[in-house]
Amino acid sequence: MDLRPLPRCVECGWRRPGRAPACRACSRWLDDDVAAAWRGALREYEVDDVDVPAFAATVVADPRGVGWRVLDGALDHTACSTCGAALGSGATGCAECDTAHGWRWLAAEPDRPGVPPGNEHAIRVATAVARVPYRFPAHMVPRYAVTLPLLIAGGLPSGADARAADRWLDNGGSLEALDAAADTAEITGLIRSPATPQGSV
Ligand SMILES: [Zn+2]
Ligand SMILES: [Zn+2]
Repeated sequence: MDLRPLPRCVECGWRRPGRAPACRACSRWLDDDVAAAWRGALREYEVDDVDVPAFAATVVADPRGVGWRVLDGALDHTACSTCGAALGSGATGCAECDTAHGWRWLAAEPDRPGVPPGNEHAIRVATAVARVPYRFPAHMVPRYAVTLPLLIAGGLPSGADARAADRWLDNGGSLEALDAAADTAEITGLIRSPATPQGSV
């Protein structure tokens, strides 16, 4: 897949939104993506402003079959009664947020037409990692995020390529090199070759 036409972030210069959460503009793009789906659901169900909290509570109570962006929007509009953060986004250890975060994965992830099966799930996981990064291993966060532009464009790395990329990054390969690659063939070549150590991070 030719990656050159993919839009680049005006703030960080990486393919958008591949540098979330480190880049504010990339993070905003992901937040806007969720917010647009949430507003769409409010329009679809003709929810008045005053009824938004009740609608959000209904979605959160049973997210099965609800689009994942709509569920994430509902979580954004529901305050955790224990810690006060947006539900599911509080610090790890808040039992209520931990539960809500676990229930995230019950939402629907239908693939768009013409993409490899599992593409939407991969977008969903990488988006969650970028939006609630402190709930995932820190070194994994930028690795998930950098895949988002490819996933959003309809690509999906194979499991073998994902593992090869992890090994390559562990051995000194850089996310910048992945972001700079012109196409997926170049990425495959990079991650299948010995990495040049970049020095300690
Ligand atoms: Zn950016
Ligand atoms: Zn909480």
